[in-house]
Amino acid sequence: MSLVIETKDLWRVYRSKTGAEIPALRGVNLGVEAGTFVTLKGRSGSGKTTLLNCLAGLDKPTSGSATVLGHDMMQMSDAESTVWRREQVGLIFQSFGLLPTLSAYENIELLLRIKGDEYDARHKRALECLEMVGLSRWKDHRPYEMSGGQQQRVAVARALANDAKLILADEPTGELDSKTTRELLTFFRELVETHHITMLMVSHDPLVDPYVHQVLTLKDGVVV
Ligand code: ADP
Ligand code: MG
Repeated sequence: MSLVIETKDLWRVYRSKTGAEIPALRGVNLGVEAGTFVTLKGRSGSGKTTLLNCLAGLDKPTSGSATVLGHDMMQMSDAESTVWRREQVGLIFQSFGLLPTLSAYENIELLLRIKGDEYDARHKRALECLEMVGLSRWKDHRPYEMSGGQQQRVAVARALANDAKLILADEPTGELDSKTTRELLTFFRELVETHHITMLMVSHDPLVDPYVHQVLTLKDGVVV
């Protein structure tokens, strides 16, 4: 058993404008095993996004420990975490995060260009990833020409383009109808099992339970 994510007594305390402390995470202990599809549930305000951001290196925990893909998130600088995310982590958000003026293909290709891949390599990889999500025929379409489910698949293809071992997703089905949600969840499950990816998905959708290996619940900043 190897853990892709491990946190011990992880705290994230925000400070309000008036100086009051807002403890969003109050000692989170978490372990996510390699190759599993795990969902993180909890009411609005329970700290889900804060936890995901801390695991992605987008936010710094206040205290405790967090190890992600063998990296100590407490020690990582902003510059290191930017490179680390680009090379090893796929991020997916509710709002898709696609650039509206670029086609599906270009949205993926751009990420690989930023990463520094050569033209031939990134062309091949972008097409491969579109194929993986079943959108080859849509490669030249822009986000507004696609359904919400298709846009989210482009976002998934982009997350896969860098061979991410870990995908962190924050309410990726939040904008989708229930039929599209089920399709995407089926696809996520297959992805995890076929490519031995680990996926932690924040959701408060009761639909997700049968699709995941494990359900974690956050309540008032702790895993219950
Ligand atoms: P969830 O994603 O489960 O809805 P969040 O992680 O977004 O919860 O928020 C957890 C708590 O932290 C909430 O009380 C929220 O108001 C607070 N919070 C989140 N981000 C900030 C911030 N940047 N500054 C101050 N408080 C914040
Ligand atoms: Mg949230």
